[in-house]
This record gives sequence, structure tokens and C-alpha cells, in this order.
Amino acid sequence: MSKSNERNYGVYDLCVIGAGMCGVPAARHAINYARHATTKPYKVCVIGPEETQMIPDRDIWSAHYDEGRITRMSDPNWIWSLLARRSIQRYRKLEQDTGINFYSEVGSLTVGAEYIPVVQKTANDTGISVATLDNSQLQSKFPFLNFGDEDIAIYEAQNAGHISPRKLVRAQLIAALELGCDVIREIVNQVTEDNLLNGAPVMKVKTDSGRTIHARKVLIAVGCFTEFRKLLPVEPNLIFSPQTVTLVQITPEDAHRIEKMPSIIYRGKGAANWPGDALKNKDGAVGYYLLPPIQYEDGKYYIKMGHWDELLKGFLTTAKEVQEWFLGNGDENLGKQLEQAIINVVKDIKILGVHIDRCVTTRTPTRRPYIDLISPNLGVLLGGNGYAAKSSDELGRLAAHMMVDGCWKEQQLAWDHFKLQTK
Ligand SMILES: Cc1cc2nc3c(=O)[nH]c(=O)nc-3n(C[C@H](O)[C@H](O)[C@H](O)COP(=O)(O)OP(=O)(O)OC[C@H]3O[C@@H](n4cnc5c(N)ncnc54)[C@H](O)[C@@H]3O)c2cc1C
Repeated sequence: MSKSNERNYGVYDLCVIGAGMCGVPAARHAINYARHATTKPYKVCVIGPEETQMIPDRDIWSAHYDEGRITRMSDPNWIWSLLARRSIQRYRKLEQDTGINFYSEVGSLTVGAEYIPVVQKTANDTGISVATLDNSQLQSKFPFLNFGDEDIAIYEAQNAGHISPRKLVRAQLIAALELGCDVIREIVNQVTEDNLLNGAPVMKVKTDSGRTIHARKVLIAVGCFTEFRKLLPVEPNLIFSPQTVTLVQITPEDAHRIEKMPSIIYRGKGAANWPGDALKNKDGAVGYYLLPPIQYEDGKYYIKMGHWDELLKGFLTTAKEVQEWFLGNGDENLGKQLEQAIINVVKDIKILGVHIDRCVTTRTPTRRPYIDLISPNLGVLLGGNGYAAKSSDELGRLAAHMMVDGCWKEQQLAWDHFKLQTK
């Protein structure tokens, strides 16, 4: 996707800044939606850099440079559940339209004791089909996994599993290009309101390379990089959470042996035979998320695990800290605990290699994304809270409609849920 397709539209109707998980679907949905509302073409561009190495002379990357993100309709929170449901229902169509397969429907398992009733209740209330597994059902259905004697689970066999965030973004880009979206591979340096254009204000978007792009409206969807450039006249209340993940490389034979493994979210006491205190919080509870074997672009199979935020030493507060985190090696101690926890949970795997990776999730005090207008011409789509990959298509759709309409017409989800909070 390196080729620029620019049609040189002059003044765009909408410029989306951030060609990531949420920005690209926003651009795609905006063109689609506006098409039905007007006979004139709706000119959209999405601006953002391609995937790059984490090297010191760069400061902007993305939260989607990976092959595995858990997807599931079930959730303790009905809003996230609905966002995921609407997105998941569109995955297969997007795959067919673009020829990019990004979705593996291997199912999802929420294990433990603590929030199983809450997830079950949300699933019941929203009509999501899940099965509750008692401890013996859990052990017999997944004999290659090692859980505790008290653990029970919610198993979502359909409409759940994992997606490749890289491939999903690629599919969204192809679909957006197909609709006539311009993809501009630059970093935006500044967004300002410019002089009136035929009586209406116009937004001026300046890039790092010195180029200027004009648009009637601008949507900012830059993930954790809001403060890296002068994009907004306000400071959104965002918390940047440093994430460490461990990927263990396993053999193709092991990957095949455990191919029925679903994506897993765990919150419980662990098993008595788990050695040590890997991933235990101060109350003795263990928490992690775990992806089944996925073949990465190097052809090798990896199992990936990440941790809960309560094990963090602290959050990142400045752009400099975010940049330093991306350029570092993650939290090595956490990385080692994650490796041990994978060995504890997935029985009898031969480990060929271990790789510790790092990333940043963008949290909001509401734990919901911000989808809001700062002015009639400037909107935000920020704050994935670590959950937005699976729901990015619907988040993009909601933001796109808000930008095209200039207001919130969505009925089932009130705008109040997504209102921006500033510092
Ligand atoms: C380790 C980890 C595990 C996760 N696991 C899951 C999971 O299992 N399930 C799930 O649903 N979600 C998960 N997430 C969360 C999910 O990946 C994020 O919520 C999602 O990527 C956020 O999308 P976004 O578009 O807001 O940000 P991003 O995907 O980061 O996209 C932002 C884009 O903006 C671009 N940009 C930034 N600044 C500028 C600028 N000035 N000019 C132009 N472009 C700019 C960036 O290059 C980037 O491409 C996980 C996240 C992490 C880090």
C-alpha cells in the first residue's frame, strides 16, 4: 500500500488525520455515507505515514503494527459489546470486497470467576450467543490448556476469535481507495482554521514536509500521538498506558496440535501447579490476555500474551515519555513473567524463541472512546482504551456520520457516551 493515489482534489470535504485502525474506516464510511446524502462527490483524504521501524529519527508509529488482536462480541460493558457486534458483522463483507483475509473465527474464551456473571448478563441482555462452561467442561474442551480448579468460562464459539490489525487496516485502505479516497503518506504538523472560502471557514492542514492541504472539515484520529504535533486547540484528557507483550515462537507441529485454541481473557486465581507469582497483582489475582498460535509475516508461529494495567509501575504522561517507551525494549521483568505465564497455561509447547514487544494504549477516564466535535469543522476519534481494534469499523462509522452530518443522529448509542473530556 505504498503508492499514493492522489487525485489532487483541491479543497477536501473531509480530511482524516491518522491512517490507522480507526481513521481509515472513518474515511471509508464518510464517502459511503455522503454518497447517499448528496449527488455531489464527497472528497475525502486520509493522511498518515506507512508502517515504519521504531528508530530514533522518527516519533510517530501506531498501535496496530501486529498480527493479533482479540475480537469478541461479549463484553462486561454493553456499549463496547455493541460496537464490537456491529463491526464483526461487517468483517466478512470487507474481506470479500477487498480480497484481504484478516479475521480468524477461532472463538473467544473469558476465563476466571470474577466477572463471568457480568459478561453473561451483558450477553443475555444483548442477545449474544455464549456458552457457560463449568470447570470440568472447560478442562475437557481444552485439554491442552491449564486452568485452575475453580475456573469457569464463557465460550463464544462464533463471531469471535482474532483479527490481524495490519491486514484489517490494509483492507480498509483498499476499500477506501476504491471509493475514491486520497491516501496521503505524510505526517501532519499543524491544523488551523484558515480564511473563509466562499463564505465558509476552511481548515488548513500543514504536513512535516511543508505541504498544505485544505479541507472543510478535519477529523483527528491519531491514537496516542495527539500531543506530538499541533493538531488540536484543546488538550484531550488521555492516559497513555505502556504495554509489554511477549511472543513465544512455537513449532508448526505444536501450532497444529493446538489449532482449536481460542483467544483467551483470564482473570482468576490461577492453577495450584503454576510455579511462582507470574502476573499476580497485590491481591494474588492473575490477569492476562492470550492469543492462540498465529503465523506472522516471517512465516513463524507465535503465541502472544499481554498483561492487565494494574501490573504497571505507572502511566506515560508526555509525548517524550511515549516516544521513549516506543524506542525502548518494554518492561523486561513483565516480559519474563508473561513468558512464564504462557508456559503455565499452554501445556507441552516447545519454545523456539522469545520476543518481547511494546506498544501504547490510549485510555480515557470514561473508558469509552471520544467521538466528538470540538467545533463544527473539527472532530476527534480518540481513546481506544485497548479495545478498539475489533470495533474500529463501527467507531470509524460513528465518527464519519458525525462529521458528515455535523451532529449526532445515531439512535441506539447516545452521543453523551462519547463526549470529549479535556484537561
Ligand atoms: C499491545 C496491544 C494489544 C491490544 N490488544 C487488543 C485486542 O486484543 N483487541 C482490541 O480490540 N484492541 C486491542 N488493542 C487496541 C487497539 O490496537 C487500539 O485501540 C487501536 O489500534 C487504536 O486505533 P487508533 O486508530 O485510535 O490508533 P492507531 O491504530 O495507533 O492509529 C493512529 C494512526 O495515526 C497516525 N498518526 C499519528 N500522528 C499523526 C500525525 N501527526 N499525522 C498523521 N498521522 C498520524 C499513526 O501513524 C497511526 O497510524 C491493543 C493495543 C495494544 C497496544
